[in-house]
Amino acid sequence: MKPSDSEPMDEALAQAVCDGDRRALARAITLVESTLPEHAARAQALLARLLPHTGKALRVGLSGVPGVGKSTFIESFGLHLTAAGHRVAVLAVDPSSRVSGGSILGDKTRMEGLARDGAAFIRPSPAAGTLGGVAARTREVMLLAEASGYDVVIIETVGVGQSETAVADLCDAFVLLQLPNAGDELQAMKKGVVELADIIAINKRDIDPAASARAAQALRTATHLLAGSAGVPVLEISALKREGIAELWDAVQVFVAREKDDGRFELRRSRQALAWLEDEVQRALRARFEAHPAVREVLQPYRAAVAQGELTPTQAAADLLRRFEI
Ligand code: GDP
Repeated sequence: MKPSDSEPMDEALAQAVCDGDRRALARAITLVESTLPEHAARAQALLARLLPHTGKALRVGLSGVPGVGKSTFIESFGLHLTAAGHRVAVLAVDPSSRVSGGSILGDKTRMEGLARDGAAFIRPSPAAGTLGGVAARTREVMLLAEASGYDVVIIETVGVGQSETAVADLCDAFVLLQLPNAGDELQAMKKGVVELADIIAINKRDIDPAASARAAQALRTATHLLAGSAGVPVLEISALKREGIAELWDAVQVFVAREKDDGRFELRRSRQALAWLEDEVQRALRARFEAHPAVREVLQPYRAAVAQGELTPTQAAADLLRRFEI
């Protein structure tokens, strides 16, 4: 693309995104996810132009261990929402290769109805990058989807490690899916995931309703202790049989309405914006640091020396920063 004609073209692209044109949205996402330096400025200009049209969607985070039924749930939940007149975007934050490695196709077979639904837009995780980078791109893709008129954005992550925190930093309401297995709730508590959850749904209730009820009760007690008197709403659902889906959507809306009443909704969003700023600065600084010729020259030998105890980390850091600042 010639730089000279990028300006009017991106104007048209921005307009088409706002008009809800799916192909334009896909092109805008490709631009935002591009790693080419010449695309970065255009992507930022496009985002700046679309920013006034963003922020109005309800952002729902979704997590749970592999196999808990996230894809199945998104299909049921998404179709429930589109049937109610919503436009739903589904995004994924996944630093592993699960989604990018081709299994989005596997996911999509469980989201077949939604993938065919004109009111839904499904976007897998950006193919590569660090979790921070992937989360940052997902945030921007979320804004593009909002500008394009999607009023519910579901951001999914596989239940491992820090990706949950990244998603909690993107959403208005964080839904955790759990299996009705004894001990699972304890695992989740230990990992601290439950602390991030605004709503917990025990999935696969259809398999063993009694086990599901026990798991729900255990989690109610646990979150009650953790979160204080209110606790966290714990629902029992079956994503496969599409039971409890409407109730879950109600619970999300009740949660968000309460957050808005208490002023916590705005607070959460401004905290997220500040965290985003912080992330961007840190990532940009680190990239510049690592690209700096005087730093690059010694970075590997210093790392090796630190690993072998020949140089203290503090000395190495001080010297690297001195080189960086020259
Ligand atoms: P993900 O890895 O979290 O995305 O989980 P999937 O949506 O791929 O589901 C994993 C398996 O659990 C699939 O075989 C689903 O059909 C099954 N599954 C998902 N939800 C339910 C449910 O509510 N009840 C039952 N019986 N099976 C379910």
